[in-house]
Amino acid sequence: MAAIGPSSKIVIVGSGVFGISTALWLARSGYKDVTVLDMQDTARMAYDPSCVDSASADLNKIIRFSYGSEIEYQRLATEAAKIWDEWNLEILTAPTNELPERLRHGDRKLWWNVGMLRMSCESDLGDFEITTLDNMEREGIREFQFRTDDDRDVTRARERGWAHKLDPCRRQDRLGTHKAVLDSTAGFVYAYKSCAWAQHLARKAGVKMILDPQRGKVVDITTKSDQPVVHTADGLRYTADLVVVAGGGWTPSLVPEVQGLLETTAGSVANISIPKDRPELWERFAPENQPVITWGSWQGKEVYSLPRDENGTFKIGWRKTKWTNFEDVREQRISVPRTAHVTERKETRLPIDALNGIKEYISVNFPELVPLGITSTRLCWYTDSIDNSFVVDFVPGRPGVAVCSGGSGHGFKFLPILGREVVKILEGRGSQTVYGHMWRWRSSSEPMRNGLEEGEQGPRVLSKQTMATKADWTFTGQ
Ligand SMILES: Cc1cc2nc3c(=O)[nH]c(=O)nc-3n(C[C@H](O)[C@H](O)[C@H](O)COP(=O)(O)OP(=O)(O)OC[C@H]3O[C@@H](n4cnc5c(N)ncnc54)[C@H](O)[C@@H]3O)c2cc1C
Repeated sequence: MAAIGPSSKIVIVGSGVFGISTALWLARSGYKDVTVLDMQDTARMAYDPSCVDSASADLNKIIRFSYGSEIEYQRLATEAAKIWDEWNLEILTAPTNELPERLRHGDRKLWWNVGMLRMSCESDLGDFEITTLDNMEREGIREFQFRTDDDRDVTRARERGWAHKLDPCRRQDRLGTHKAVLDSTAGFVYAYKSCAWAQHLARKAGVKMILDPQRGKVVDITTKSDQPVVHTADGLRYTADLVVVAGGGWTPSLVPEVQGLLETTAGSVANISIPKDRPELWERFAPENQPVITWGSWQGKEVYSLPRDENGTFKIGWRKTKWTNFEDVREQRISVPRTAHVTERKETRLPIDALNGIKEYISVNFPELVPLGITSTRLCWYTDSIDNSFVVDFVPGRPGVAVCSGGSGHGFKFLPILGREVVKILEGRGSQTVYGHMWRWRSSSEPMRNGLEEGEQGPRVLSKQTMATKADWTFTGQ
């Protein structure tokens, strides 16, 4: 394929984190003809998770910089943090009428450095946590981590104003044990507001958007005279120099060649609504007092929660099992999203195992929320890769078609920076960059490939699960 240049016609499929970040960085790098297509009107609905189905259209996402031994992701997250800080400042100081609608009301801050408490569900921290802390010592970032059972750490936490976040579940008093590490560098971003902001910046930089269930929906990508042709649901065709498929969980159904490298899976999310007229609860779960919490990671629980938002929504996620949903697509069996709005077969329920895991987390750690019950649930669909690393590369045998996906449950934090690295890959410089190498088209002969080896025979298939109903949302009988 001929190298792309500033006048190349570039079509990006998908206005989630991967598509918007790519569009923004292309436009800022001088590309003049960039169009984003999306089958959902993410502009009008402003990525509101109550009406948009995508991994990026969510209430909030965790931002962490500690990546264990995966130093390249740690460095990229640290670079992203500088831009998250800049975006916070830009939004705070911008005249209200210059902000996208979504950011004109309520909290204007995208990125909140509220800390992340990694709680053990056992009576010791666990080997993984100890190794992580050792790695941090070597990297010179151990001082920002506070072990709840280390007096020097607790003193440092007190001096730096973090002591009130060391045991927000009052576990030591209630359960007689509390082993945890507070990471004071981490926190969360408001996901829907962040996407709305990035889309606003991309438009300002000159990106065109077609966000519509017919005009923006890509139904096929073919090749004519070595150039990709995008077919949309309204019957139109767009010939481009480059098509970048950033379709999140829909990527494997548009580009079936990614089978074996990417798989569409779903995480399980539940919300509890905290009433404003309960001042004690309202205060406790506010970002000022509540960190992001993970419970029993690597110990078989794998639950997390984020502080309540300005409307009182307290989000809990369960990531022990990522569900699959195989259907016939282009004469293959491919896992595809099954969501609340945009898919033919709708789904908002969670498998009962996921709901029970979330209820156990609440019962053990936040018994005061038990009387409130669960308010809503959601399956959040995304793409996992064979090794949890992203996939950004040209599709072999498809001239001018690239994929940009494989967020594997940790892509959101890179929204401000991801596109910078994607542009280098699209310009053919991927082999010279560390991320180009990590995100290349690849295969694996390992027997364990992040669950992708299971396919439709595996136990994670949604149709094999007992689904929870609203009656299961209460904690009666627990
Ligand atoms: C439950 C859950 C929790 C997560 N938590 C975190 C976290 O705490 N921190 C973090 O950093 N990351 C997290 N992630 C990962 C992060 O959300 C994803 O990596 C990221 O949002 C993926 O963005 P995307 O652009 O690839 O896909 P999406 O956001 O899904 O966007 C894809 C877009 O493509 C559009 N599209 C698809 N097919 C077509 C088509 N045929 N035609 C037109 N448009 C199409 C869709 O409408 C959609 O808007 C989490 C993910 C999930 C699911």
